[in-house]
Amino acid sequence: MKWLIQLLLLLLFLVSCEPQGPTADIIIHNAEIHTLRPEGQTYSAIAIKGDRILGLGTEESILKFVDAGTNMIDARGNFLMPGLIEGHGHFLGFGRSLMELDLLEVGSWAETIALVSDEVAKAEPGRWITGRGWHQDKWTDVTPVDGSPYPDHLDLSVISPDNPVILIHASGHSLIANERAMKEAGITRDTPDPDGGTIRRDEEGNPIGVFEETAMYPIREAFWSQGGRGTEEEERARIREAALIAQEEAFRHGITSFQDAGLSMQEIGVLRTMANDGELDIRLWIMLLENYESMRVSVKQLPIVGEADNRFTVAALKAFNDGALGSYGALLIEPYSDKPEESGQLVTPEEELRSIAALARDHQLQYCVHAIGDLANKMMLDIYEETFEDKDQLREARWRIEHAQHLRPEDINRFAEFGIIAAMQTIHCASDAAFVVTRLGEKRAEEGAYMWRSLIDAGVLVTNGTDVPVERINPFTGLYAAVSRKLPGQEMAFYPEQSMTREEALRSYTINNAIAAFEEDLKGSLEEGKLADLILLDRNLLTCEKSDIPNTKVLMTMVGGKIVYED
Ligand SMILES: [Zn+2]
Repeated sequence: MKWLIQLLLLLLFLVSCEPQGPTADIIIHNAEIHTLRPEGQTYSAIAIKGDRILGLGTEESILKFVDAGTNMIDARGNFLMPGLIEGHGHFLGFGRSLMELDLLEVGSWAETIALVSDEVAKAEPGRWITGRGWHQDKWTDVTPVDGSPYPDHLDLSVISPDNPVILIHASGHSLIANERAMKEAGITRDTPDPDGGTIRRDEEGNPIGVFEETAMYPIREAFWSQGGRGTEEEERARIREAALIAQEEAFRHGITSFQDAGLSMQEIGVLRTMANDGELDIRLWIMLLENYESMRVSVKQLPIVGEADNRFTVAALKAFNDGALGSYGALLIEPYSDKPEESGQLVTPEEELRSIAALARDHQLQYCVHAIGDLANKMMLDIYEETFEDKDQLREARWRIEHAQHLRPEDINRFAEFGIIAAMQTIHCASDAAFVVTRLGEKRAEEGAYMWRSLIDAGVLVTNGTDVPVERINPFTGLYAAVSRKLPGQEMAFYPEQSMTREEALRSYTINNAIAAFEEDLKGSLEEGKLADLILLDRNLLTCEKSDIPNTKVLMTMVGGKIVYED
């Protein structure tokens, strides 16, 4: 009996010398790890198994996860943090924008014409030429037509008589078309302004080629039916191409999850197939955007949650309340300071906004409404409040207001009271600063524009993103804008007292976006059991010179334990 017990003890001893728990596929060590967890502990090593984080620790404590098959990655002292989450962008729009003429940095109308002219020279007659990103306030040379700050289509029509041209405004809320494009869309001087849109005209009533908000639809439809769409097969191929380009650019910038602010069921279908076929590594969280009648049918297929190993979710409905500030589309309580006869556009009838709210509530979907102006924000807070009798249910629904850009001071607390998420884009503040005071006057700009400090202090969840392709996708200029209220290299800050701290800025790009999508158990911070979505950067975003933040380089991007980008 005695020797048997001794043998058992010996066996137990031998077994206990074997590794105890699971072993890691990958260990990244020698890193400065910022977990984004509330306790803020720092680590130097992280162990990964499959698509999950196995553990975090010191160089010594992580050794227990090592076996012969573990891939050891030396981070060389670089900064490691959770993968960034683009909180409001247009995934396919971004991909498509990389396939068309880029006008974001063009400083004059003359230069715009020259760029289009180059495209015309290359294009077959009849082919549509599309560009995106112009902004009249960035141009040095435009001669206003009939008081409006826009150019006339004539310059475009002269250089491109046979090719329809459409150039989308940086905000996405207006476009310039040449004569050929207007002809294809059936626009004449007799075409009336549609509800929620304006056809800009000269003194004689002739369209000058600028179409705002819903007035853009006939032109876009002509484009889609002739140039854009093609056969169903061609359209699917185009969506696929746009998605792959967008994904690659996202990874280059450290974006591991992307919240898309509005796709149709057709686009969702193509992306869903790609995700399930393993063609997409990026994690998509998508808002459905259709008119109310189509949505009523489409919601029967929703929600889609965490398909393709947590890569594909559609669990929110998107709608637009108003337009953008730059193109005088933002819906304001008082008129524009630089255009006293206008106070913006309601682009969806209030009744429809209410009906979609009820649809979202009844199908347990999030509701995400674009609201820029102070009246748009007030109206949406009213509608959200009226949709739920039980205010706890409203809080639990995590409904969002996209942009939440200009607010009445008294509405800030209403966001907090109802748990409404302010889905903001800090980069918009920096790049719009030049015209915000002109449009709104100083009082409204100071008390109500891009109020993220006041919102955070009131207890509101503020998320961050770029609205790409409205802005470039680079999250580091967005993080810099969050902490400085400036563009890189700019002297003047836009009401800097509204800045975030660096920690808050990082949260706005990670864990806050995860919470705003009900995904905080999966991502947004580095902890055991969460997805191994992380990035390695060439500088510590908490300690580097503030002015150096925009120059940050991504050294590695990892999604679910797989390296998807390496510098
Ligand atoms: Zn958007």
